[in-house]
Amino acid sequence: TIKIDKVIGKFGVAIMGGTFDPIHNGHLRTAVEVLDRYQYSELRLIPCFQPVHKGRPSVSPQQRLEMAKLAISSDSRLRVDSREMDREGPSYSVDTLRDIRSEIGPNKSLIMVLGMDSFLSLPTWQNWQKLIQYSHLLVVSRPGWEPDLISELSAFCENYRAASSHELQCAPSGRVWFETLTPLGISSSMIRALACKNESIAYLLPEPVQKYIEQHQLYR
Ligand code: ATP
Ligand code: MG
Repeated sequence: TIKIDKVIGKFGVAIMGGTFDPIHNGHLRTAVEVLDRYQYSELRLIPCFQPVHKGRPSVSPQQRLEMAKLAISSDSRLRVDSREMDREGPSYSVDTLRDIRSEIGPNKSLIMVLGMDSFLSLPTWQNWQKLIQYSHLLVVSRPGWEPDLISELSAFCENYRAASSHELQCAPSGRVWFETLTPLGISSSMIRALACKNESIAYLLPEPVQKYIEQHQLYR
């Protein structure tokens, strides 16, 4: 089955949306662990133009995009997808997923990766029940977000809990599942707060991104 999974994986696409204000090792480590586990051919990081559920990012959309591009240069399986930037306006995941689905056709497996904190806010997202029409949802652990019960979302998850990983990779969309990854207690808010106090942000994010932040004096 390993061989079959690999073949299927080659045809699958994983995506991870975020504000990436700035992108950090928590995002990047999540991305590579997912790629290694599922052997998908690529993972696209999709910076939002305008986040729907939080205030305006402190740096420009172009700067967030630039930092994401600087961050991925060392892994060829990582891509930056700028479609939300190009679309402008509020960035709704459902629009993005619909778009990507129409691009890759009906049969390829598509996974949207999101952290537990994002998953818990799912019921506030635009048309959230429609997301699994276009993709799977892979919910990854995040330190500080270990709910014992996902009350509002339990009905949504129940149908999918029994699926095997093989099944998940074969189906193009429609599954929701959970994975525990290496816990990294890193967040963009934490990096912004450190930069604001003029403390070091080294080793929390890739060096080119750190340099970019310092050069442009971001988050001061
Ligand atoms: P902020 O503190 O500004 O909210 P953030 O660190 O949460 O920033 P986002 O851009 O909001 O970063 O997150 C994008 C996606 O990455 C979300 O699905 C989030 O759950 C996930 N994520 C971010 N950091 C981690 C981490 N350390 N471990 C696992 N998932 C993470
Ligand atoms: Mg966040």
